[in-house]
Amino acid sequence: MRYEHFIGDAFTAPAGGHYIESIDPARNHRAAEIARGDTRDIDAAVRAANAAFPVWRDSKPIIRGRILFEIARRLRAESEKLARLETMENGKPLGSSRADVETAAQYFEFYGGLVNLFKGETIDLGGGYHSYTRREPFGVVGVILPWNSPINQAGRGIAPALAVGNVVVAKPSEFTSITTLELARIAHESGIPNGVLNVVTGTGPEAGRALVSHPDVRKVAFTGSVRAAREIGKIAAERILPLTLELGGKSPDIIFADADLGAAIPGAAAAMCANAGQVCSLGSRILVEDQIHETVVAGLKEGLAKVRLGPGTENVSMGPLTTAAQYQKVQDYYRLAREEGASIAIGGDLPSDPKLRDGGFFVSPTLYTNVRPDMRIAREEIFGPVGVVIRFKDEEEAIQIANSVDYGLVAGIWTRDIARAHRVAAQLEAGQVFVNEYFAGGVETPFGGYKLSGYGREKGIEALHHYTQLKCVTIKL
Ligand code: NAD
Repeated sequence: MRYEHFIGDAFTAPAGGHYIESIDPARNHRAAEIARGDTRDIDAAVRAANAAFPVWRDSKPIIRGRILFEIARRLRAESEKLARLETMENGKPLGSSRADVETAAQYFEFYGGLVNLFKGETIDLGGGYHSYTRREPFGVVGVILPWNSPINQAGRGIAPALAVGNVVVAKPSEFTSITTLELARIAHESGIPNGVLNVVTGTGPEAGRALVSHPDVRKVAFTGSVRAAREIGKIAAERILPLTLELGGKSPDIIFADADLGAAIPGAAAAMCANAGQVCSLGSRILVEDQIHETVVAGLKEGLAKVRLGPGTENVSMGPLTTAAQYQKVQDYYRLAREEGASIAIGGDLPSDPKLRDGGFFVSPTLYTNVRPDMRIAREEIFGPVGVVIRFKDEEEAIQIANSVDYGLVAGIWTRDIARAHRVAAQLEAGQVFVNEYFAGGVETPFGGYKLSGYGREKGIEALHHYTQLKCVTIKL
């Protein structure tokens, strides 16, 4: 399979004629070839987008909404095909890939429904003046995406940008580009004007950097690592380019002794190994009140022992990690955990089944106990199915430990005490707090980080503020 860029109205070969391999992580075999974009391809895509901007910006919002609804419909109609492509490149179980296609469809549906609701206001200046605000699109928006939930995140960035009249050049991860390219094809078939959505594939240093540096790109929404965000931020600082940065996390999942443990324990087990741990909002630090520590650890072990690991195309609950680098990184953290003196409750090594050690990037769900908050395994994002259990004695200490890391993406709280839930939620340094259901929420709930987890917000109505710029018009009557 060979995939080209989607520029203007068609798949387009890369100017340099080069391709990169994408790998099926369940087998460590070549899955497909994708175009390796460079500055010329980015320039062609930005030009196509810029040419389409006036038409799209000035279209009736209801027309834009209708097209976004049609994209949602077609995504659902092609769900099975898209899910198989997603699993082939990303490795996740087919059921998760289908759920991600559904979420992508929901982004188009949600923002398609909001096109007429997002508007300015009038400002009362007393007699003699008429003052009002307009929320205007930026123009060309660059959307740079990671590899962990490709089509889901493509929908999250692209749908709101388009809804408010921007045009988009998306740069998916070089490891998982195919479903974003398919999304561009589907958008085209859904009637989006030529050039409104373009996808250029390739590496971060080549295509990604060229996109951020292009003078006609007026806003960038980036999801990925802190490392890349710093590089992008330097270029953006020079260009005074507005950014949304959705970065990593080391999120606390706090279980109080009064919690419904029947819900909290399986909830925490699922939250620490969702998508083989490759989730920015993973509940990777499980904070447990002293008196329930043994019960919770025993329950988590039992839950994690039931995880069925294997290729995403089989009947499994966890697939491989997506990249060879990530596979290596998780093993490096196994080593670090040993050096730091943590105890292994379960896992801590590659799976023993020889089939899972033969080529694919499979790692076992792993839980560490006897972990202190200052250990690196308790502070750094591992991005694998690795949880650490940290004990606390009271509410105050739970909050202090929860806030003690550099990240602040999300946090979970399990308690039956509603006053405590609100009190703790207010004090946590995190952009989203889940009470009694980790990952509660959907396309409607605003999402983004505190501290090193980034700035700006995706999802919900809030995202539309970040894909528009505000103009105030004041008239002396
Ligand atoms: P990454 O930063 O390596 O890559 C992300 C994207 O940025 C890719 O498309 C890559 O090609 C591009 N890129 C890399 N360097 C670039 C540069 N210098 N200029 C422009 N573009 C560049 O991240 P990743 O390894 O793909 O993703 C993992 C990270 O993403 C984790 O830290 C994870 O927590 C984070 N993440 C965050 C969210 C969120 O919403 N907060 C969601 C998913 C993943």
